[in-house]
Amino acid sequence: MSFIETEEQKALRQAVAAMVANYGQDYYLEKARAGEHTTELWNEAGKLGFIGVNLPEEYGGGGAGMYELSLVMEEMAAGGSALLMMVVSPAINGTIISKFGTEEQKKRWIPGIADGSITMAFAITEPDAGSNSHRITTTARRDGSDWILKGQKTFISGIDQAQAVLVVGRTEDHKTGNLKPALFVIPTDTPGLSWTAIDMEIISPESQFQVFFDDVRLPADALVGSEDAAIAQLFAGLNPERIMGSAMAVGTGRLAIAKATDYLKTRQVWKVPIGSHQGLSHPLAQIHIEVELAKLMMQKAATLYDAGDDFGAAEAANMAKYAAGEASVRAVDQAVQSLGGNGLTKEYGIAAAVTASRLARIAPVSREMILNFVAQTSLGLPRSY
Ligand SMILES: Cc1cc2nc3c(=O)[nH]c(=O)nc-3n(C[C@H](O)[C@H](O)[C@H](O)COP(=O)(O)OP(=O)(O)OC[C@H]3O[C@@H](n4cnc5c(N)ncnc54)[C@H](O)[C@@H]3O)c2cc1C
Repeated sequence: MSFIETEEQKALRQAVAAMVANYGQDYYLEKARAGEHTTELWNEAGKLGFIGVNLPEEYGGGGAGMYELSLVMEEMAAGGSALLMMVVSPAINGTIISKFGTEEQKKRWIPGIADGSITMAFAITEPDAGSNSHRITTTARRDGSDWILKGQKTFISGIDQAQAVLVVGRTEDHKTGNLKPALFVIPTDTPGLSWTAIDMEIISPESQFQVFFDDVRLPADALVGSEDAAIAQLFAGLNPERIMGSAMAVGTGRLAIAKATDYLKTRQVWKVPIGSHQGLSHPLAQIHIEVELAKLMMQKAATLYDAGDDFGAAEAANMAKYAAGEASVRAVDQAVQSLGGNGLTKEYGIAAAVTASRLARIAPVSREMILNFVAQTSLGLPRSY
């Protein structure tokens, strides 16, 4: 592992930062407040090869790894455009389909995911299961060679802007009636699939939805990967998801610190800029250290993942997600404090991050479930649930 990024990685950071700067945080917030999507930015990111940077070259991707995709995510968030669908479409779905999909599925979905012309939502969370994904009940039963899917999901991001959704469900063993996990890819115009928006207090151009599967008929080839190995296949998408959650939080932390730093240098209410007062400079320096530490763990997780060490990557990705979530929440809070009243105005764009940054403590896996994982897996402690 090297602590020094390659020239290509540095150039990628600069190129992503330059693209996002052309739009700016104001663009992201204006779209969000108008209830619109950031389609122009998404399309440009796709055209420039940023969305599919981790996906295989033979299917139109960039042939790089999660390190590069997390770098894209971090720079987008640091530039004020933390797009959730980056976590979902190329990182979770692109990874799962390119690793476990059939040749047909790869050809059908990966080139579009890579260039952004296809956005794929991801649906695992259910109202009655929440963090306990072993309790999900969305079930597919066989009907000839087809599947009939029935169930409900919640908090599904961006299904309104997606052409397809990757659903984590269960299949029913026709002999025993036992349910086992299975993954299905479903075009969003399939009859029987519907959704309603959840009224969220997050200022984001990407919305969350309750999703309903009302006897959705699916062809046999909707099943992704093996019916008997869905858990392992799902896990292949979870490390990328956590690494991307970390990247989003690290970028958001950087954005908050940058805004606060600018303000502390110029705002003067006594004889010196307010950044001279250690009551403001020290907490910001502390948060800067915490964001950098979280970033280091994220880079370790991505490096391990790209090297094929899934087990090592899982521990590091969980730790990175925890650390980045905590650091970004504190960075945003300290940025609000640094700006005084302006921290709560629309003009400075910090207040909008207060609710959004809290997401990093909740999704894709909550802070408590990460602590459970570390307590049990890293420390070998018994579980309480
Ligand atoms: C903006 C947003 C976007 C999302 N996008 C998606 C998406 O695209 N696709 C998708 O499938 N899901 C998505 N989610 C769902 C997200 O993954 C869940 O909200 C998250 O996993 C937590 O589940 P829950 O909300 O049901 O909380 P619950 O599971 O009900 O948990 C509530 C609280 O209890 C704690 N808790 C639960 N069990 C334990 C335990 N054993 N020990 C200690 N504490 C515990 C949790 O940590 C949490 O603090 C999104 C959520 C949000 C808010």
